[in-house]
Amino acid sequence: MKKSNLEFSEVIHNYVLENSLRESQVLSDLREETAKDPSAIMQIPPEQGQFMSMLVKLVAAKRSIEIGVFTGYSTLCVAQAMPEDSYTLACDIDEKWTAIAKRYWIKAGVDKKIDLRIAPAIDTLKSQIEDGQAGSYDFVFIDADKDNYDHYYELSLQLLKSGGLMAIDNVLLFGAVAGTNYIDKSMQGVFSEQSIEVVKKLNIKIQNDQRVDVSMLKIADGLSLVRKK
Ligand code: SAH
Ligand code: CA
Repeated sequence: MKKSNLEFSEVIHNYVLENSLRESQVLSDLREETAKDPSAIMQIPPEQGQFMSMLVKLVAAKRSIEIGVFTGYSTLCVAQAMPEDSYTLACDIDEKWTAIAKRYWIKAGVDKKIDLRIAPAIDTLKSQIEDGQAGSYDFVFIDADKDNYDHYYELSLQLLKSGGLMAIDNVLLFGAVAGTNYIDKSMQGVFSEQSIEVVKKLNIKIQNDQRVDVSMLKIADGLSLVRKK
């Protein structure tokens, strides 16, 4: 297969969706409502949501953190995969988008498990550490502003238990990390030079970080799985 054979990969992609996706009604309604927002591209695709539900079950997570909620799709995938007495700390700065999120969390019956904090995520994470919550989380999903990714990584590493798992989204920035020539034309200019530099540096840092195990997946826009040793 030629590397540039996009048509083939689209056929395969559709096959995967048609033959393995199990998106609940609430999730697909949320996707439909979010599609009306010009920022809908920020939402994780459904197969990634299903994969994250699987991850959370594999690590038997009971405490998780969501950094970047938007309209709540990824948070819902994670929260619904955790037990009734689980806890998810959800961080975002936007009241309007998270109001949509809250409506769907209620519909899905997971709202009691989610603690939404409207504040810069760095502040919320630091206050968790000050409150003695370091080493108490099983799972973290990093998906907020890319400029702060290194801070989110370091703070999440402190908050995770040994053996805990971090999933970092958009580590490929639609190809921008591999050189500007590779940017998908429709995504040109979506990420600032600064964001691209931050993510590139973080990817290399994680590759060499002996505190963790890593696996960078090419799912969606790139998802790095990072396990704290
Ligand atoms: N995980 C979501 C998508 C997140 S989009 C999903 O799959 O649907 C990125 C989110 O990060 C946006 O909702 C934005 O409001 C939020 N964000 C941006 N800067 C932030 C900050 N400093 N602290 C917390 N959240 C932030
Ligand atoms: Ca994302």
